[in-house]
Amino acid sequence: MKKARYKRVLLKLSGEVLAGEEGRGISYEAIHNIADELVTASQMVQLAVVIGGGNLFRGSEASEHGVERVTADYAGMLATIINSLILQSALEQRGVQTRVQTAFEVRSIAEPYIRRRAIRHLEKGRVVIFSGGTGRPYFTTDTTAALCATEIQAEVLLKATRVEGIFTADPERNADAHLIREISYKEILDRDLKIMDSTAISMSMDNNIPIIVFNITIRGNLLRVLMGESAVGTLVRR
Ligand code: UDP
Repeated sequence: MKKARYKRVLLKLSGEVLAGEEGRGISYEAIHNIADELVTASQMVQLAVVIGGGNLFRGSEASEHGVERVTADYAGMLATIINSLILQSALEQRGVQTRVQTAFEVRSIAEPYIRRRAIRHLEKGRVVIFSGGTGRPYFTTDTTAALCATEIQAEVLLKATRVEGIFTADPERNADAHLIREISYKEILDRDLKIMDSTAISMSMDNNIPIIVFNITIRGNLLRVLMGESAVGTLVRR
């Protein structure tokens, strides 16, 4: 087994990466591909995962259609738990011990979040999936990822997406857009680059957690990132 650059990492999977081409619903093919990547990753590092829910439900979207915002956000948090359980199942089918911890109690299906317990699971080589976001409305799972990475003292936050990294502009709309290899938190905030929400970026900045944005749908990319290959994705740091 190749040696990883990190000991403990926090991987943020947006709901979109679990979805099919349209970014909605659950694609079992996508789930299986990601689970395959996570199996090897879990043998190389202590692996904690935060999952989004945007493929199933987004609070802000639902509130535009008249659902009360806080209720809509709770529905969004529940969507992250659905994604977590499905990923857990795919990982356990592959022999990887996995624990789902939820930010609010859903005791009959998962453990509540207990930091020390999460760390113990990681030390024992189990994958820990942090589910239910922060447990509070008006936040995102990117912010959850920054918070969890800080709490469990992960060395890096890996933001898995379906694009190569951070671009100077939207590559689908602008032919001149190019991939940025390295950028500071402050520049992302100043240029208002829409890769993560500003709360997630500023929390990572305040706690000095580097972020690597990369395309997880390319086979082997996650492992390349874990080995510290700088040619994959965009590195965000001070
Ligand atoms: N959400 C929330 N509080 C949190 C995290 C998530 O209210 O701490 C809700 C919010 O409605 C959001 C939904 O859960 O739209 C799904 O999360 P997110 O949009 O971050 O998922 P992703 O874009 O990563 O798939």
